[in-house]
Amino acid sequence: MKDQARVVVIGGGIAGCSALYHLTQEGWTDVMLIERDELTSGTTWHSAAQVTNFGMTQTMVGLKTHSINLYQELRDDPEYPVGYNFGDGGIRLANTAEQMDGYRHFASMAAGMDVEFEVIDAAECARRHPLISTDNLLGGLWDPTDGHIDPAQLCQALARRARLAGAEVNRHTSVTGLTQHRDDTWTVHTDKGDVKCEIVVNAGGYRCNEIGAMMGVQHPVASMEHQYFLTEDIQGIVDAGHRIPLLRCPISDYYCRQEKGGLLLGFYEQDCRTWGMDGIDPHFTNALCPDDLDRVTDVLEGAFARMPALMETGIREVVNGPITYTIDGAPLVGPIPNKRNAFCIIGLRAGLGEGGGHGWLLAQQIVHGEAEYDTWVIDPRRFTGHASVELTALKAIEDYQNEFRFHFPHEHRPAGRPMKTTPLTNVLLSEGAHMGTVNGWERIDYIMPTPDFTETLGFRFNEVHDVVAAEVQNVATNVGLTEVSGFNRFELTGNDVHSFLDRMFCGVVTKRAGRVGLGYLLNDHGMLKGEATIANIPASDRGGNRVWYGSAAASEFHDMDWLQSHLRDDEDVAIKSLTNQQTILVLAGPKARDVLSAAARGDWSRDAFPWLSVREAYIGIAPATVLGISFSGELAYEIHVPNENLHAAYAALRKAGAAHGLQLFGGRAVDSMRLEKGFLHWKADILTEFDPFETGLDRFVKMDKPDFIGKAALEKRMAAGMQRKLVTLVVDTKDAPAHGGASVRIDGRIVGTVTSGDWGHRTGLNLAYAFVEPAIGVPDTQVTIDVIGEPTAARVIEMGPYDPSYARMRA
Ligand SMILES: Cc1cc2nc3c(=O)[nH]c(=O)nc-3n(C[C@H](O)[C@H](O)[C@H](O)COP(=O)(O)OP(=O)(O)OC[C@H]3O[C@@H](n4cnc5c(N)ncnc54)[C@H](O)[C@@H]3O)c2cc1C
Repeated sequence: MKDQARVVVIGGGIAGCSALYHLTQEGWTDVMLIERDELTSGTTWHSAAQVTNFGMTQTMVGLKTHSINLYQELRDDPEYPVGYNFGDGGIRLANTAEQMDGYRHFASMAAGMDVEFEVIDAAECARRHPLISTDNLLGGLWDPTDGHIDPAQLCQALARRARLAGAEVNRHTSVTGLTQHRDDTWTVHTDKGDVKCEIVVNAGGYRCNEIGAMMGVQHPVASMEHQYFLTEDIQGIVDAGHRIPLLRCPISDYYCRQEKGGLLLGFYEQDCRTWGMDGIDPHFTNALCPDDLDRVTDVLEGAFARMPALMETGIREVVNGPITYTIDGAPLVGPIPNKRNAFCIIGLRAGLGEGGGHGWLLAQQIVHGEAEYDTWVIDPRRFTGHASVELTALKAIEDYQNEFRFHFPHEHRPAGRPMKTTPLTNVLLSEGAHMGTVNGWERIDYIMPTPDFTETLGFRFNEVHDVVAAEVQNVATNVGLTEVSGFNRFELTGNDVHSFLDRMFCGVVTKRAGRVGLGYLLNDHGMLKGEATIANIPASDRGGNRVWYGSAAASEFHDMDWLQSHLRDDEDVAIKSLTNQQTILVLAGPKARDVLSAAARGDWSRDAFPWLSVREAYIGIAPATVLGISFSGELAYEIHVPNENLHAAYAALRKAGAAHGLQLFGGRAVDSMRLEKGFLHWKADILTEFDPFETGLDRFVKMDKPDFIGKAALEKRMAAGMQRKLVTLVVDTKDAPAHGGASVRIDGRIVGTVTSGDWGHRTGLNLAYAFVEPAIGVPDTQVTIDVIGEPTAARVIEMGPYDPSYARMRA
């Protein structure tokens, strides 16, 4: 074993083998894999190893396509061919109209990634699968590429190719400790000696938290026991004369695929179990958990009803093994939060299907700092301080119980809630707030008109439409109040704050005390990394001159990482997070100034406190920092209040607002209003796949600044010409919004993809944002959008159709 390598990957399952191979593909060959036992001896060896192209975001679809292409290449490698049954086809079943709507939408989204799915009815499902009955079946989603692979051969093939490229693979070698040095390099301690390296990668599967502990990190990953069994031969399969398709069933929570002449049937039972929460036996390797088929009778009944032939078929073998989950079900692939030179590829619950793609995107992040796709959906930093194994276990159970029941738009499931609350949460609930969650924070979605109000979850406009309309109406004519919990807020102090920010932002961000500005951060490739509000707070009895950097709730670890990693040793800048200490109350509407003036002493007139001002004040008796900014397009104030004073500030605003028709509103109303204004959401519309010009943020870029991060790359991109352009579209239907991911077409040809869509209640328009081919980004261009799969007429309009002169915000 070498005693030095550029990267050490710990773990030789699919995650580690794929990461190692892809590092060599990206050009880093001085890389090493360390595996405590044989390759694949964790979960990988006993995986059912199904490989589907289905995903709920374009990043997930794209990375699975990468897996499938790679696996076909490995299958066809004459020197080491891997067993891969590609193209058996697979059906995701559905028994509700809402599930069918979802499949139609996902099919459109996948089409934008050149992946063709088909939505089929129940009769067609039965025609394609010889064993199933159509009772209680509406139809399904057909994935023609579905299949399964030999997991051991796959890992061996990847390791073999990596070795040929120069990588070293050390089996039967345990990593026992990790030491990070002052220069951020590492020593990896093993039972066979030490290895010095620049970067470590945790690919430890269900042991990822043992490796995490070696660097003082608890990863939000928990394991569940998961079982499948193999049956004796089934005549219907033998008679079919062809391989039968895979099935995944959200009605009864099982999957199955052909295995020889029988079936492999896997279960997601309601009576499920976490595994290894109190530590894992060091000898559990190449091992399984004890069978427990009694637990899965609920699921079995459903499977028997769908495939009656199963009732007469014997079970050959049962497999029960640990499978890892995270808080939201997607894995953690990328930089480890709050660490330098440390990455992970863990929490994979469909690692065989996805592992090829995850290893690819991880290697790109390590080598180039960013991957081809925006990787936020798998970024380990997307959960912040609340992300514990305790919480993950609750979410893992919930996720496991709903394995094939995808989340509907606006669905916030109950496990692990409330996780993060403010002193107002219970008050708002008592006032009828329906809460959603943002990064673990309870946040108002809308105010329920009656205590027993329930929402029909789905992809179409529902009963919440009118509720939001009324909230928007009151904001537009009177004044509304909402709480924005968990908003990310850093305080920057020191002599070099402004020069530091000048380097970080691609535009000019105001340095004037008492003023506020919005700015954008680019990565080294000139692509959009972040968005932040900068408020220059003048010195007061609360502190010296300070800058507040405000950004999206989930961005805390991501943005802190980006800022900290660019601070130079000689720069006098301190960055402190205030995210968990303060909460925002937003006052919005033409009467917002009247309410503020009644609740807070001082002159709040337009001259004294114009748009884009910041001032410290008291709201009643509560100290607060007031920013004159608006995400709704109305005259609005963001009132930042320390959590201990939040209730007092809220009471003062409610009291002052009574005379002005103040009512509460929620995030759904905000989303509707921001689309009417042309305002963007980080990680919905602001993505690392596009530069600021493509995203329509020209006015926030100052190319004649001497330098900023990403400038050189952006210049090159400008010279090469725009690839895509963000536009606003009006969609010609009152039935449903255009959901993120929907394809935009001209004459059937895909010319773009929707990022956000919702009804604009003030304009009466069904609005959507989409990245489209630049030639199409011209007002009045006619296109169609697949709204829940249905081609629907749409027209390009100027961004921000509501109050284009900004008169209302500046009032
Ligand atoms: C029953 C079952 C069925 C499944 N079916 C499917 C399916 O159909 N399709 C699909 O895509 N996925 C499926 N999965 C999930 C899939 O198998 C996993 O996501 C995948 O195998 C995880 O791979 P991994 O590399 O992350 O972890 P592992 O395979 O567990 O690899 C981690 C490796 O790290 C090593 N290691 C740990 N600690 C150390 C250390 N200190 N030093 C050195 N090495 C260390 C371990 O020995 C192990 O080899 C299934 C899982 C189960 C349990």
